[in-house]
Amino acid sequence: MSSRTWRVAIGSIFAESSHFLTTRIDRSYFENTYIYVRDDLFKLAGTDCEIAGALTICKSKNAEVVPLVAARSVSGGPVTDECYAELKQLLLTPLQQAMPVDGVILPLHGAMTTLSDDDPEGDLIHAVREIVGQSVPIIVTLDLHAHVTQKMVENADAIIGFTHYPHDDTFTTGQRSANLLFKILRGEARPVTVMAKVPVICSGINGMTFGDAPMAHLTQQARELEKQPDILSVSIFHVQPSIDIPGMGSGGLVIANGDIEVAEHEARKLAEDYWARRQDFEPEIIPVAEAIQRGRAIESGPVLLVDTADCVGGGAAGDSIALLERLLDLGVTEPTFLMVIDPEAAVSCSKAGIGQKISLELGYKIDPSWGKSIKVEGIVRHLFDGKFRYRGGIYGGTIGDMGLSAVFQVGAIQILIMSRPTYDWLDEQFRAAGLDARDAKFIGVKNPMNYNFAYRDVAKAAFVVDTPGPTPPTLRNMPFKRLNRPFFPVDSDIPDLQPAILKSSVRS
Ligand SMILES: [Zn+2]
Repeated sequence: MSSRTWRVAIGSIFAESSHFLTTRIDRSYFENTYIYVRDDLFKLAGTDCEIAGALTICKSKNAEVVPLVAARSVSGGPVTDECYAELKQLLLTPLQQAMPVDGVILPLHGAMTTLSDDDPEGDLIHAVREIVGQSVPIIVTLDLHAHVTQKMVENADAIIGFTHYPHDDTFTTGQRSANLLFKILRGEARPVTVMAKVPVICSGINGMTFGDAPMAHLTQQARELEKQPDILSVSIFHVQPSIDIPGMGSGGLVIANGDIEVAEHEARKLAEDYWARRQDFEPEIIPVAEAIQRGRAIESGPVLLVDTADCVGGGAAGDSIALLERLLDLGVTEPTFLMVIDPEAAVSCSKAGIGQKISLELGYKIDPSWGKSIKVEGIVRHLFDGKFRYRGGIYGGTIGDMGLSAVFQVGAIQILIMSRPTYDWLDEQFRAAGLDARDAKFIGVKNPMNYNFAYRDVAKAAFVVDTPGPTPPTLRNMPFKRLNRPFFPVDSDIPDLQPAILKSSVRS
């Protein structure tokens, strides 16, 4: 075994795009989370992200880490070309200057698009490959909701996805990537990859990897496969369903040690099983009125109203007031918490001051394609700077910043008005606003999954409600234009369906 010091370059550009949005991810989106250039990347040590996990393994192997850039954004529309070009240079320039390196780790999302490229991550991995050459291993980590492409599979030596949804395993994903890298560097692994996909385009709402969910079964099979000596890593990908591009699909990615036929055989089996379970991915969706009625029949609370169509974590603007409108129409008198992003309304609350009664135009100012603002009268109950620290997940340990925020009370409804989108992990946003979930009968949550963790100990029930927005609980009615047909759930039965196969090229 060599006693030399390995040099490992680490760089990350992490964003998730949606094509059902009018927003564009520019530099400000990344700045709102973080852009750590070169040595500043080490600020992520001690957090829960992939880089933090990879750093611990590199340290334990006494490897020298070459920090490139770490940039993370909340989800949005496509990334602007200028923004992507700038971040790409921030990643590539330090790599060029640091050459030679022994290996590269790239934590990416896998469902980023730009205005002119459907596959910027494939482009980025390819650009890194051009710099480091064929013999230097590149390990890529991806979100479980990645859109895996041929270009990614061809240019990476290994792709490792998150194994959990909710994503509480980002740190260990980073560790796994570094462990595999060192295994390759020691000559103990020769990865060959096959991804097999089937056209299952479903929201994440039944995509949890625990319990009896379809993803839990698939994930379990992946862990079993990894016990085989000839299998290095297995990832299951449930594609982010709001990108409208060809080649989309969900399935299994298998990395075998040297034998591509083994990888293909197992990947095909996973994709076929995915297809067999497709019906289980479609959730029960009910009108808000029915959710309130069923919620009222449950003693005490909170009862969650899952308004996933406006999920910031999936790229929505977070400015929907559809649920508020329905609750006002229904005359809900029980204590209720809702949230909305509306910077203008936050400023109006701030100008008025705590305790003041004012009237506000609320909602649909960022993405007006899903509804119109409404006028509401209420009382400003709380004002704050919107900062909080994440207690786990992708952003665990880092600071979230909702910008100027207010709690505005309309009847029995407390509305958290925020200036900026932040990813929902637990109930950090409500908590930062001084709103305790146990005090509410109804809580509007704007995510398809993490509420399962956030309110696990307190929620009495959760109902997926039928509200409009770009991240709905079913993709059945979305205006896809470029997505290949047939696909599930629009085409529910496709005779003789064959998985699409993506294969790595064999490197010498
Ligand atoms: Zn995800």
